[in-house]
Amino acid sequence: MCGIIGYAGTRNAVPVITEGLKKLEYRGYDSAGIAVFGENGFEVVKQKGRLSALEERLKGNAISGNVGIGHTRWATHGEPSDVNSHPHVGSQSKIAVVHNGTIENYRRLKERLEQKGVRFASQTDSEVIAQLAEYYYDGNLMDTVVKVSGALEGSYALGIMCLDEPDSLVAVKKDNSLIVGVSEHGNFIASDVPAVLKHTNKVCYLNDKEIAVLTKDGVSFFNFDKEPLPKEIETVSWSFDSAEKGGYPHFMLKEIMEQPRVLKDTVRSVLSGGGNKSVIDNLDISGFDKIVITACGSAYNAGVVARYVFERLCRMSVEVELASEFRYKDAIIGDKTLVVLVSQSGETADTIAAMREAKSKGAATLSIINVVGSTISKEADYCLFTAAGPEIAVATTKAFSAQLVLLYALAVRFAVKLGKLPPEKEIALMAELETLPEKAKIILGHTDFIQKYASECVVYKSIFFIGRNIDYAIALEGSLKLKEISYIHSEAYAGGELKHGTISLIEEDTLVVAISNCGRLFGKIMSNAEQVMSRGAKVLLIGCCPEADSASYGGKLSYIGLPEISELFSPSLSVVVLQLFSYYVAANKGLDIDKPRNLAKSVTVE
Ligand code: GLU
Repeated sequence: MCGIIGYAGTRNAVPVITEGLKKLEYRGYDSAGIAVFGENGFEVVKQKGRLSALEERLKGNAISGNVGIGHTRWATHGEPSDVNSHPHVGSQSKIAVVHNGTIENYRRLKERLEQKGVRFASQTDSEVIAQLAEYYYDGNLMDTVVKVSGALEGSYALGIMCLDEPDSLVAVKKDNSLIVGVSEHGNFIASDVPAVLKHTNKVCYLNDKEIAVLTKDGVSFFNFDKEPLPKEIETVSWSFDSAEKGGYPHFMLKEIMEQPRVLKDTVRSVLSGGGNKSVIDNLDISGFDKIVITACGSAYNAGVVARYVFERLCRMSVEVELASEFRYKDAIIGDKTLVVLVSQSGETADTIAAMREAKSKGAATLSIINVVGSTISKEADYCLFTAAGPEIAVATTKAFSAQLVLLYALAVRFAVKLGKLPPEKEIALMAELETLPEKAKIILGHTDFIQKYASECVVYKSIFFIGRNIDYAIALEGSLKLKEISYIHSEAYAGGELKHGTISLIEEDTLVVAISNCGRLFGKIMSNAEQVMSRGAKVLLIGCCPEADSASYGGKLSYIGLPEISELFSPSLSVVVLQLFSYYVAANKGLDIDKPRNLAKSVTVE
């Protein structure tokens, strides 16, 4: 899940690479390192800790060169330490490698190399790549890369430098993303587009079994038979500013605040022409008798919300599966199943595997993805793109909101095609969807109460979230957000389920966040709220509840009102409050909100 970057150009690679690594730090941040070709061979600086620690180290150990590779790590094999940091250089000091991914057969390869006298310095799986490359190297780096790729099992995106070919940098990938960027002063490889945006918006996406060879003058692409490959360079619309904090203390707050714009762009993408609209319009759903939504983390929660919308509108049963489970459960699917895959990055390892499993069983696959050119967006039969722009904070906010909009739109269109929703109802629902950006803006314009309330919540050891039906679905996301960034234990429960166990955890001053946008179920959720208040809990009620009467509970009930919206779309408003609540709790605890401990943004390992 780490981030890699490489540069071959006319500038000193060191600042170019460290700046790029800053934009990749969301992918991993337990250590970082950089290697360049210096006057006397490889110059390598590696440091445990955040990128800032590497920068400090570089101040006292100036290295420079025009070709280099860099890495910010999220350890999978071997503890975070200086020696386990990348780049890894082989024991002959001939080949240096940065690696994103995991090598599953590294032990076997390592043992074989050790038997041949190779001495390993680190505990990582990645070092085996550098050692193996040195072992195979016979004067041609591209041949070596092909041989190494043939020997490796697992996933990888690699940047490789060889002492005998000091003007170039070679890249190859399998199952992990790698982009190539082309600029006037030099050429790049990187795990993700924001790392190169300062220099260029001209990029191309490397596919598995393609090799990129970069020099300062250009980039050439080859297949594993060393035949040149024509590759198209695309211009991405993401701007450099969109990957900057823009005056906010954290990317997460900036991204929460961007949601009115994101909602607007995503709604527009399904209403007024363009890629998403035509995919949805042209999808023939008459042959499907089953929909399965599969994803991980927040994207899974978006699927849980969507299930309520699909089932209500389409009168069709929908399954929602964690991708990590779906991939191994021998799912009962076939050519009459539509499998919907949701992933911000489009590189989530479990979701990729779920997609391939679905395809191998003949199911049609439709993905909802934020990153153009990503693996899932390319391999799924159909793809809808969220118009969220780059999301940097590890905890997703705006991409989640955009996923919801696309899922709503899909459900509405499917319902019409299935004859379950009359066209006038479709028009009314779509018109309501268009009001979401303004309503989200209203919430974002009045954050004072949430800020104040959240500041008092830092003392809690545990917070519960409850809701019924679609409010329960979004409670799952509220709970996940809180635990991700505030490290407060939290759980989400269907309101009616409390009495079957969880209520035993309620004691004096426990906080229960109750969500209520299903007017028809307001009485039910309020009786759950009363049950916990009568056992000493405090309740924060979030929703559109005109009947809420917080005054009559002796200070135990607080209420955050939401603008009125149809129950089916209400998660999009509830979630804005839930995101702000988590954000301000974490901010009051002084935590590293954009990079919570142990987490990384795109989970490209299993
Ligand atoms: N497996 C490598 C390591 O532990 C790379 C980790 C990653 O890509 O997240 O160093």
